Amino acid sequence: MRSMFKMFIQINKILLLLILVIMSSENFAQKQPPLNELLPAESAVILGKGTEPPFSGKYEKLFATGTYICKQCGSALFYSDSKFDAHCGWPSFDAEIPGAVTRKPDPDGRRTEITCSYCGGHLGHVFTGEGFTPRNTRHCVNSLSLDFVPTKLEPGRYGTAIFAGGCFWGVEYFLQKEPGVVSVTSGYTGGHVKNPSYREVCTGKTGHAEAVKVIYDTRKTSYEKLLKLFLEIHDPTQVNRQGPDVGEQYRSEIFWLNSEQKTLAEKYIGILKSKGLNVATRITKASEFYEAEDYHQDYYFKTGKLPYCHGYTKRF
Ligand SMILES: [Zn+2]
Repeated sequence: MRSMFKMFIQINKILLLLILVIMSSENFAQKQPPLNELLPAESAVILGKGTEPPFSGKYEKLFATGTYICKQCGSALFYSDSKFDAHCGWPSFDAEIPGAVTRKPDPDGRRTEITCSYCGGHLGHVFTGEGFTPRNTRHCVNSLSLDFVPTKLEPGRYGTAIFAGGCFWGVEYFLQKEPGVVSVTSGYTGGHVKNPSYREVCTGKTGHAEAVKVIYDTRKTSYEKLLKLFLEIHDPTQVNRQGPDVGEQYRSEIFWLNSEQKTLAEKYIGILKSKGLNVATRITKASEFYEAEDYHQDYYFKTGKLPYCHGYTKRF
C-alpha cells in the first residue's frame, strides 16, 4: 500500500514537471509573424537585389526622429540619429542597430552588400573610408527596403496591420491606446491615385479608403488581438459609411500583408457572420499606403476631443 502511494506521488511529480516544461517551451518559442508579401517594386529591390533610381525614394530626405524597420520582416534596422545626407540619392546611415544588418561581398567583386540579418532581404551596400561622418561608414539603403516608424524602437521584430473603418481619427484613437502598439499612422490606401490629398480622397473618386497603419511589438501583442479590437471599435455592418461619415472612403476594409492575416480576417468575419451580423468589411491585399497630411495625425490627442463615431462594442 505504501509503495503504491509512493508511486502515485512520483507520477504526480512527473506530470507536474511535464506541464512546467510545456509551459516554458511555449514562452520561449514565441510565434514570429510571417514575412510581408511585397509589392512588385519592393520585390525587385528586396528579393531581386535591385536598386531604386537615385532621389526617388520617400526616405531620402526624411530626417524625422524614429526607427527604420525592414519592409519584409519588420526588424528594427537603423535609428534616425545615424542618418545623414550624403547627397547620393539614397538614405544614408553611418551605423546599424547592432546585429540587425549583415555584410557580404557583392557578386560584382567590388562592393559590400548589406542585407537584413533576420530575413536576408537586400537593403543596399555599405561603403567605408569616405569621410562623411566620424564613423566613416555609409550604409546606402533603398527606401523601398524600409518602413519608417516615428518612435525609437527596441531592437527586434515589429508587425504591421492596415485597417479602414470610417474616419481614421477614431480608428487611430482606439488602436493607439492598445498595449503593444508602438505607432498608428493615418493615411489612404486601396485606391488608384498616387500620393492623394485629403481633399482628393474626400471627393470619393480616388478609390482610396481612410485607413490606419499600425506598427506593433510582436512580443507584447498579436495581429489576431488587434484585428478583433478593430472589429469591435467600429460597426463592420455599415456599407460605405461609418456613422455620420458617408462615402466609399469611409468603408470597412482589412488590408492584409500576408496570408496569415488574410486567414485570420476571414476567420473573424466568419465568426461575426455566424452571430448574425451582416458584415460589410472587405478583405483585400494591401497596396501602397500613403500617409495623410500632418494635421490628421494624432488628431484626438492633439485636440483633446473625443471620437464622435467610434466606440467599443464587445463582439467576441
Ligand atoms: Zn528583414
